[in-house]
Amino acid sequence: MTLNPQEVLREVFGYDAFRGPQAAIVEHVCAGGSALVLMPTGGGKSLCYQVPALCRPGTAVVVSPLIALMQDQVGALRQAGVRAAALHSAESPEAAAATWRELQAGQLDLLYVSPERLLGGDLIERLAALPLALFAIDEAHCVSQWGHDFRPEYLQLAVLAERFGAIPRIALTATADPRTRAEIVTRLSLEQAVVFIASFDRPNIRYLLRDKSEPRRQLLDFLTTQKGHSGIVYARSRKRVEAFAAALRAAGHDALAYHAGLSAETRSATLERFRLGSGVIVVATIAFGMGIDKPDVRFVAHVDLPKSLEAYYQETGRAGRDGLPAIAWMVHGAGDVPPLRRFIEDSDADPTQKRIEHGRLESLIAFAEASSCRRRILLSYLGEADGSDCGNCDVCLEPNQGMDVTEPARKALSAVYRTGGRFGAAHLVDVLLGGETARIRSLGHHQLGVYGIGRELDRGQWRSLFRQLTARGYLVAAADGHGGLQFGQDALVKPLLRGESRLEVRLPAPARVRRGGAALSGAVTTAAAADSADPDLLAALKAWRLEQARKQRLPPYVVFHDRTLVSIAERRPTALEELAGLTGIGRAKLASYGEAVLEVVRRQQPQA
Ligand code: ADP
Ligand code: ZN
Repeated sequence: MTLNPQEVLREVFGYDAFRGPQAAIVEHVCAGGSALVLMPTGGGKSLCYQVPALCRPGTAVVVSPLIALMQDQVGALRQAGVRAAALHSAESPEAAAATWRELQAGQLDLLYVSPERLLGGDLIERLAALPLALFAIDEAHCVSQWGHDFRPEYLQLAVLAERFGAIPRIALTATADPRTRAEIVTRLSLEQAVVFIASFDRPNIRYLLRDKSEPRRQLLDFLTTQKGHSGIVYARSRKRVEAFAAALRAAGHDALAYHAGLSAETRSATLERFRLGSGVIVVATIAFGMGIDKPDVRFVAHVDLPKSLEAYYQETGRAGRDGLPAIAWMVHGAGDVPPLRRFIEDSDADPTQKRIEHGRLESLIAFAEASSCRRRILLSYLGEADGSDCGNCDVCLEPNQGMDVTEPARKALSAVYRTGGRFGAAHLVDVLLGGETARIRSLGHHQLGVYGIGRELDRGQWRSLFRQLTARGYLVAAADGHGGLQFGQDALVKPLLRGESRLEVRLPAPARVRRGGAALSGAVTTAAAADSADPDLLAALKAWRLEQARKQRLPPYVVFHDRTLVSIAERRPTALEELAGLTGIGRAKLASYGEAVLEVVRRQQPQA
């Protein structure tokens, strides 16, 4: 039985429509054509070869540089009922022999191999005797000698063109720059291949840049908005990585350090915790990079400038592969630049290469210091200019630089004082805005002088102001851990209240005038979707998923993506047919998990 691409997409993967250029790529490869696919991280490269692998007769051979990546892909495919296996150095001889038997019996749709494994021994000869659907070369930029991920064995993959001229080859990468692209074409003999380029925009990533003052405190402050989320913090040196990791742990975060100075065992244990867990923060040098295909990384934070705008794009691109809202956060200051310049000067690159590196650094500095839309600058650097502001970066969201907030800040402090220093920002903002909440009534806070005196700012601006007052030490969270805000340092609070000092901060633009590009509306839709899902049911589904994942020793997202859980919590399906219509639920997952999921939904009835 052969299925067409659309049926494979629906029945096997549980998705309704191809994304961007996927449909064209799949059609081209299914028809026997070769392709070079340039698509950003999270764009959906895997389906570009997985769907043709299932539509074409024979086995598809996928060359992948990292064992962890292969294992995740094979795990995810098997969950979807696809016959997939991997051959690499971490597999036992028995497992390899079993894989080989399946391969010869025509029982494998996809075979993942490391380049070493493919090129060493006689695997190529043996494959030549079998019906093959296609070759996919993942992370194809590994052929580039200029990149960070150069893998000498990738150069030998040119042999595939010589030996298997009639079999389609599809090379895939998220590296956008034209030089790397040209290198891939020549080194892999892809002159005849059609090049497909997807937009490199990552609309669900919100870029937030901050002036660096006290990076540690700024980071901790940012992390209060990311409770329970997985993320990566990048720092310049091993020493800084260790220091930041320790500071995060001291503040109660589940944070681990990762750099090249740690033993291989420690590093792989860290990667494993990060992949399998949720809410784990890895503080790392750039040694932590390729191989992170975790889709639910919610934030990437930079406490030091990366070395180029490309590096920034790649590093921040690890956030939000699942398409849900994610944040790229960075603090930067003038002090970041000299060490980076020295680093380039001290490297053993030739003068031409050094000039290129200096140029790349300049682009990054210009990006960081710009006062126009960040995404616009980033995309035009990547060769995509569309000229509109994104509405989802700090410049678009917080256009008023250094607004004088002395008066609102005094009102905020008064609200804290009049309510007895026992309440968190949410309630204080309600009071200032004259909200009609039951809590305000029962506490009698509608009778206070500060009730309703803060209508000059909206809720988002007040929240931001409270955060900034806390970050700057005017307010502190009460020690009892209930989130109540109290006065901070006397030396700051008193002069402000007496009118002897003034305060300037950057506030977000009022909600109603925020520019609403496509990017923002996209992020808002998913956020809104997450809001309309029943939080208790979502939590129950996540707990159930974690249990399934643990039992099978798989990362949770391989069982179901967050997106799928959100849509279940939203729709509350009561029958299998209803469940089958939701995103990410194909035939195999419906069969293995359908009943269990319905049971979780039944048990978790909404509160009246
Ligand atoms: P890449 O390898 O390009 O970084 P992946 O292939 O891992 O990206 O895909 C990123 C995420 O998007 C995955 O969770 C994948 O299941 C999902 N995805 C890809 N294509 C589609 C589609 N057409 N519809 C819905 N989800 C998709
Ligand atoms: Zn913008």
